[in-house]
Amino acid sequence: MTSLSLIFSGCFKWAARAEDKLPGETALHKSYDYKGKVIIVGAGASGLAAAKVLEQNNIDYLILEASDRYGGRLKKDTTLADFPIDIGAEWLHSAPITLNKLKGKHGTEIDEELIPYELNETATWDGEVYQINPDWQNDFMYGFMPESKFTRSTWYDFVNENIAQTVKHKIRFKSAVTAIDYSGNKVIVQTRNGESYESDRVLVTVSMGVLKSGMIKFMPEMNEEKRKAIESITFRSGFKVVMKFSEKFYPDAISCKVENGEEVFYDIAFGKKAEANVLGFLCVGDETEKYYDLGSEQEIISRLLEELDKMFAGKASAAYTGDYIFENWGQHEFTLGTWTQAIEEKRAQLKVLNQSLDDKVYFAGEINDTYQQMGVPGAILSGYHTVNRLLTAD
Ligand SMILES: Cc1cc2nc3c(=O)[nH]c(=O)nc-3n(C[C@H](O)[C@H](O)[C@H](O)COP(=O)(O)OP(=O)(O)OC[C@H]3O[C@@H](n4cnc5c(N)ncnc54)[C@H](O)[C@@H]3O)c2cc1C
Repeated sequence: MTSLSLIFSGCFKWAARAEDKLPGETALHKSYDYKGKVIIVGAGASGLAAAKVLEQNNIDYLILEASDRYGGRLKKDTTLADFPIDIGAEWLHSAPITLNKLKGKHGTEIDEELIPYELNETATWDGEVYQINPDWQNDFMYGFMPESKFTRSTWYDFVNENIAQTVKHKIRFKSAVTAIDYSGNKVIVQTRNGESYESDRVLVTVSMGVLKSGMIKFMPEMNEEKRKAIESITFRSGFKVVMKFSEKFYPDAISCKVENGEEVFYDIAFGKKAEANVLGFLCVGDETEKYYDLGSEQEIISRLLEELDKMFAGKASAAYTGDYIFENWGQHEFTLGTWTQAIEEKRAQLKVLNQSLDDKVYFAGEINDTYQQMGVPGAILSGYHTVNRLLTAD
């Protein structure tokens, strides 16, 4: 079998499962005759997707984004290695055909070159013992839940090229929303820098971390059921580290045994057709605290190198080039966490989260995904789904 046919045999096996859950068509294929003004809060994947529908239909809208960039939890670096690195979302957990749905393309042929994420060399580490996983375990794991990555690009590139380009001129940066007053006929949105905006409907796409933090005050307050639903969603803290080495002394992935959460080292260059040796470290959940307690990025990097040195007899320190990226999503003011998966939550909770406030304030973003995709696809599909509701509500 050629590598290409291997890719496709993997994809078909998987697509048959995930495709069932995808919508036949999205708001991208519909037309709307809405005459009011819409404000979107947040220029992440979800907010940008919703904006694309508004742009296509010549609807009056504005995107208020707290930070000075768009993409939210999608971010890329082009300085560390000879290939672009995903600093936020990295894997496509859904069937490859999902990419077509996300960009509104019909048919089954996808344009993107993908790496099937089928690892052969993996290990576990419990702080003392380094153990190579048997082949059957890798086969089972990567056969059971196939995933892929972009070969020469990133999630940020995908959203930038297919969604953001037509709407980015409507983003007002450094406009952190602090209050949404929907008590009157019009909805009044206030930002931290003292600006006030009026619209007919608002679409809120901030992360669960931001919603939970109370950064945005809703007037009148959300009802208790909705507040409880928000509180009940798990949105774990975490960070990603990318380190560069002069040689590849590590396997494709090393899963660390931890009490509560996830810690994994993984070869970011896997399948990338690149020269650079780049190792990622993803830490999510309660384990994050022990790293934060170290007090600085430098201390965290030193701790990771120590750990790797124990596994590989000092090879990590010897091969470390001193180049790294540390992205602290858990403490980023406008993210306050990593990700959440709608499939982990109960349907009833999701229904409450999806509910609008008086048909004036709507909620989208990964947790509001009704198609049981995860991460970026979920965020984008929820943007399309919710903007459709917003534009068609009486
Ligand atoms: C480390 C990491 C790894 C991940 N890996 C994957 C992966 O491999 N695959 C995958 O599919 N998904 C992954 N995810 C999840 C994925 O990134 C998210 O599901 C998706 O990007 C969420 O998009 P969103 O638009 O819902 O939210 P966000 O991307 O969080 O966008 C919300 C936007 O709102 C802005 N904002 C926040 N507060 C305010 C405010 N008060 N006023 C105005 N604007 C505000 C933010 O700045 C941001 O731009 C990962 C996430 C992280 C952090």
